[in-house]
Amino acid sequence: GGLLDRLKLSNGQILSPRRVVQAVNGVSFEVKQGEVLALVGESGCGKSTVAKTIARIHTPTGGTVRIDGQEVQDLSDRDLLPVRSKMQMIFQDPYASLNPRQKVRDIVAEPLLEQTGNRAEARDRTEALLARVGLNTEHAGRYPHQFSGGQRQRIGIARALSVNPKLIIADEPVSALDVSIQAQILNLMMDLRDEFGLAYLFISHDLSVVHHIADRVAVMYLGFMVETAPRDTLFAMPRHPYTRALLSAAPSLEPAKKARQIELTGEVPSALSLPSGCCFRTRCPFAWDRCAAERPTLRDTGDGQKVACHLIDEPERDTP
Ligand code: SF4
Ligand code: MG
Repeated sequence: GGLLDRLKLSNGQILSPRRVVQAVNGVSFEVKQGEVLALVGESGCGKSTVAKTIARIHTPTGGTVRIDGQEVQDLSDRDLLPVRSKMQMIFQDPYASLNPRQKVRDIVAEPLLEQTGNRAEARDRTEALLARVGLNTEHAGRYPHQFSGGQRQRIGIARALSVNPKLIIADEPVSALDVSIQAQILNLMMDLRDEFGLAYLFISHDLSVVHHIADRVAVMYLGFMVETAPRDTLFAMPRHPYTRALLSAAPSLEPAKKARQIELTGEVPSALSLPSGCCFRTRCPFAWDRCAAERPTLRDTGDGQKVACHLIDEPERDTP
């Protein structure tokens, strides 16, 4: 099986202490060892919610999250500790996620110390990891505010690696960085993947970044997964109208075949009052009555591509 098997959040409304933050429905996927799965979609589509649910920052009200075959969604904080050594998270804004009053060496050592309590081991590993991500011993005694955004992300990566995880959940890890720095961080992440056998769940709204690093891509809209496919298949032959609209709107990508381009219009409906039937129907140029009556489910269309759209049954409706 996969490393992260069967993440299923069927009607898994994700609750913060007081309110529904984001409903995620029928989301189901696996991440295999060494694989980069990119989760894409506009802001508010639920991709960060999925990330935080896997990392158990949020607790789902339904569904299962399995890591290495073990169900983790109901574990107590104490039972979760060993699981945390298998998965770590990297955040968009490393500054907000790093304790401003901690020195870099303590920030990086913390997850490992939590696991083992072994200070000597943590010190040695911290030194090695800081060097590996491009920082030196002098940096180890400084505080987060003394670093640039790119350096702070290197610190966040070193911290995530301290427990030797198998899966890194990276939520928009380069979106806050300058483009030139983005490439450096992405290349570092890819080198580390090969070196440490890491898998990434890589969350991004930036399709050129996704094209650069993903093995597979999953597209989310309003809390639903609407399409998933190997990277090259998805970019060459997107099938869901929403995926096609996203690709059509991405300025840096080679335009897909003209006939398959779709302009994305209208607003994203509120996640708290979902449209009946297909969640994309209020913005879809192909929508017909079936789309309001029946919610499409993800179906295999071959070659590892899965699409949730009724056009699969009636391709003759797919005309510009
Ligand atoms: Fe559009 Fe209908 Fe397909 Fe939804 S199911 S994406 S509304 S054609
Ligand atoms: Mg987000």
